[in-house]
Amino acid sequence: MKRNSVGENENIECWLTDMDGVLVHENHPIPGAAELIERWVATSKRFLVLTNNSIYTPRDLAARLRASGLEVPEENLWTSALATAEFLKDQVKNTGAPGRCFVVGEAGLTTALHEAGMILTDTNPDYVVLGETRTYSFGTITKAIRLILGGARFIATNPDVTGPSQEGVLPATGAIAALITAATSMEPYIVGKPNPMMFRSAMRKIDAHSETTAMIGDRMDTDIVAGIEAGLHTVLVLSGITQREDINRYPFRPTQVVNSVADLITTV
Ligand SMILES: [Mg+2]
Repeated sequence: MKRNSVGENENIECWLTDMDGVLVHENHPIPGAAELIERWVATSKRFLVLTNNSIYTPRDLAARLRASGLEVPEENLWTSALATAEFLKDQVKNTGAPGRCFVVGEAGLTTALHEAGMILTDTNPDYVVLGETRTYSFGTITKAIRLILGGARFIATNPDVTGPSQEGVLPATGAIAALITAATSMEPYIVGKPNPMMFRSAMRKIDAHSETTAMIGDRMDTDIVAGIEAGLHTVLVLSGITQREDINRYPFRPTQVVNSVADLITTV
């Protein structure tokens, strides 16, 4: 199937792309990814690289990507932590007071919330905000549970229950959220993919409009479905988790299917 003709993407002004399985795979760049980013930068395309991982700040993430051979400017990174901070900033803007957040997470999340004007506190918070971390403690989880039972709203950066590591899977935000849900009977509001909220805030950041924006991803149940729900042109790459024969199992289809981002370089 040859669908990556030049005409297919000529109306696309802005690009959103997933990271794992699209640009990188276990700390190695996927062939074509570096060239695609270079081309976007060289032609001043408006684009953002999206990740549901809320552990790193954009600066840390840019450094990590650089170490694995991919040059992505930090202003072109959009994490679920940034999306969550934007969401909360918008939620509290008419209250006349800064939002108060108790955070279970790392610098990626605390920095984003700080920069969005939130107060980080364990006293009388409006929100308990859960993100990715490697240092959960029983005391912190207990605190979060008691604050939610006391009326704080429960927010999570992303639904992923596991993340990858070289030694095997790691429990991720969704797994800890499940623990807190079991103890409180409260479900979190989750900002990251597949919530199209993640795409809408990304598009606001680069002043993108849905009719002229494309989303590239390797997962049908997150990247593609959320892209469709946000009204975007969707591009499924087969360099990650999805095989071509998997596509028909879903009740929706991407606009375009390509083997990898290498097939997009000449059309963007
Ligand atoms: Mg992916």
